[in-house]
Amino acid sequence: MADDTPVPLTPGSTIGILGGGQLGRMLATAAAELGFRIHVFVPDATSPASEVAAAHTRADYTDVEALKTFAAAVDVITYEFENVPAECAVLLAGLKPVRPGPLALDVAQDRVREKDFVRSLGIGTAPYAAAATADEARAAFKALGGKAAIVKTRRFGYDGKGQVRVTSADAAAEAVTQLATPCIVEGAIDFKGEISIVAARGIDGRIEAFDPVENHHKDGILHQTFAPSTISAGPGAEAWRIAGAILEALNYVGVIGVELFVMRDGSLLVNELAPRVHNSGHWTMDACNVSQFEQHIRAIAGWPLKPAVRFADCVMTNLIGPDVLNWKTYAAEPHAAIHLYGKRDARPGRKMGHVNRLYPLNGRP
Ligand code: AMP
Repeated sequence: MADDTPVPLTPGSTIGILGGGQLGRMLATAAAELGFRIHVFVPDATSPASEVAAAHTRADYTDVEALKTFAAAVDVITYEFENVPAECAVLLAGLKPVRPGPLALDVAQDRVREKDFVRSLGIGTAPYAAAATADEARAAFKALGGKAAIVKTRRFGYDGKGQVRVTSADAAAEAVTQLATPCIVEGAIDFKGEISIVAARGIDGRIEAFDPVENHHKDGILHQTFAPSTISAGPGAEAWRIAGAILEALNYVGVIGVELFVMRDGSLLVNELAPRVHNSGHWTMDACNVSQFEQHIRAIAGWPLKPAVRFADCVMTNLIGPDVLNWKTYAAEPHAAIHLYGKRDARPGRKMGHVNRLYPLNGRP
């Protein structure tokens, strides 16, 4: 495609977003702050993002005519979830710039492909093997040491869904049979903690990263993010190096989230890549000179990235399901910022909002 999209994109231009969740909503409000219009493409009649967007195409991601009309109506396209069908991304990329490009989606949509890619850069991951059948699962479990493993679906897993922890070859075989889709078997890692780094790469190749943060999960869902990570001072530079290598190799434009395991010796393994803004970057909305959402919009619009500077410590707490019913309490806290996603039904396990609690720089209790 002849890419005649102006760089930098001028205010008043329209940014298309595939997906309508809270990440799209926060991208849309950040884009509006910079004077852009947002056009959301999402199959649902209402969604957190479409409620704050200038335009909404309600159609399926496989609706070729709707995709073409959408592409004609926008200047640049991005996405807020990684399970955009590959054909959809490829079709759109032939019509308008899609940032980050289809390569990042292709790598991040399949856990085996993702780990192959990370390892090809000389970066460590958990040991793993693909398993599509019960026999392959048994063999994989034994090859990985035969102690404990996690069986995960290769595609479409999120928030711990599509994952089973197993401690025998038979259980691994049973898990693959139950999941009924091609799987990956990963050796269970005895990590010291989990961190992530949210980083951005601009059209000019410049890379900016936020401080690595520490993540605590509850029932497989991110519960709290501690910024900065205090697991140890060591992994910061290494996390930065890893994120930079991944961004370069993907010729990436936009924000990426890289989830990492911190090993007992302080070394890092990549767990997962999120080719989009990431839940563990929500603290940047209140504790930094630029939020991950604005940084992403800057990147895809060809604007200069901001050097990411943290000016407070922060603990981000997700409001999951009925947690949100306590909104009055959070709203009354003097040093907390509450962000709600406008979802009506507080179903268990559903991300309804988050609270950023701020502390003096390097003064978190
Ligand atoms: P994921 O969906 O791959 O991010 O996994 C969700 C969570 O499961 C991670 O944040 C870890 O807490 C845990 N987990 C995933 N993979 C492994 C592994 N190979 N070893 C130990 N724990 C894991």
